Amino acid sequence: MESLLNYFETIPSHHRAIIIVGGLTLFWIIEGIMPLFGKPYKKWKHAVPNIFFTLTTILVNLPLAFLLLKSADWVIANEFGILNWLPEMPLWLYVVVGLLLMDFIGAYIPHYIEHKVKPLWMVHLVHHTDHNVDTTTANRHHPLESVIRYIFTLIGVFIIGTPIALVMLYQSMSVVATQFNHANIKLPKRLDTLLSYVVVSPDMHKVHHHYRLPYTDSNYGNIFSVWDRLLGTYMKLDADKIVYGVDVFPDETKNGNILELLKQPFQKYEKPTMDADG
Ligand SMILES: [Zn+2]
Repeated sequence: MESLLNYFETIPSHHRAIIIVGGLTLFWIIEGIMPLFGKPYKKWKHAVPNIFFTLTTILVNLPLAFLLLKSADWVIANEFGILNWLPEMPLWLYVVVGLLLMDFIGAYIPHYIEHKVKPLWMVHLVHHTDHNVDTTTANRHHPLESVIRYIFTLIGVFIIGTPIALVMLYQSMSVVATQFNHANIKLPKRLDTLLSYVVVSPDMHKVHHHYRLPYTDSNYGNIFSVWDRLLGTYMKLDADKIVYGVDVFPDETKNGNILELLKQPFQKYEKPTMDADG
C-alpha cells in the first residue's frame, strides 16, 4: 500500500497519458466483442469530438496541476481537513476513507450541482448530448466543465485534507472507472448487478444518460455507487428502454460537431421533459 502511494505521489505525466489511452483502447476492443447496443454507428466519426474534448480536458488540467500539488502539500503541512482530524488509522483504511470522501465531495456533489444549477447544467449538457454513449464519452466535457470540476477538486482537497498521492490515485482510478461505466459493453446481468453494489456499473450509469427526466437526474456516482444508494438518487431502467441524449437538444448533427458543442453552453436553457412513466 505504501509503495502504491509512493508511486502515485510522483506519477509521471506520461504514465497518466498511458492510463487514458490504454483504458480507451482496452474498452474500445471489448465494445467490439460484447456490445450493449449492437445498433451500428460510425465509431471513429463519433469518437472525433469526444477525443477532442478529452484533449481539452487534459490541456486545462496540465497548467493547473501545480495548484493541486501546492494545496495538497499545504493541507498536510498544516494538518488541515477531515482526514487529518480523524484519529490515527491503518493505512489501508485511510486510503479507503480518503477515496470515498473524494468520490463524494469531489465528484458526486459537483455532478449533482451541475444538474440542478441551470448555467452549470448548460455546460455539463455537452456530456449528455452524445447520442451514442461509449467509452469515448467518458471525457466528453466542455473546457468550462473541466475548469468547474477542477475547482471542485481543489475545494475537495481542502475539506478532506488529501495528500497529493491520494488525489493522483483517485484521478487515475476515476479515468478507468468512467471509461468502464460509459463503455458500450454488455456484462452478464448478474455480474453487473453485483458490481453495482460497490462501483458504478455500466448498466447503472447508462440510466443517467437516458434522454428524459427523472432518469437524467439519477445515478450521479463517479466511481462508487454507495452515494446514490445512500442518498436516494439510485434508479434503474432496462437497457432496451434507454434513449441516449437530452430530448430538448435532439439535433444529432449539431451534437456531433465540435464548434457547435463549444457554443452549446451559451444556448437558451431548456429542461428535459419528464418521461411519461417516470
Ligand atoms: Zn450528468
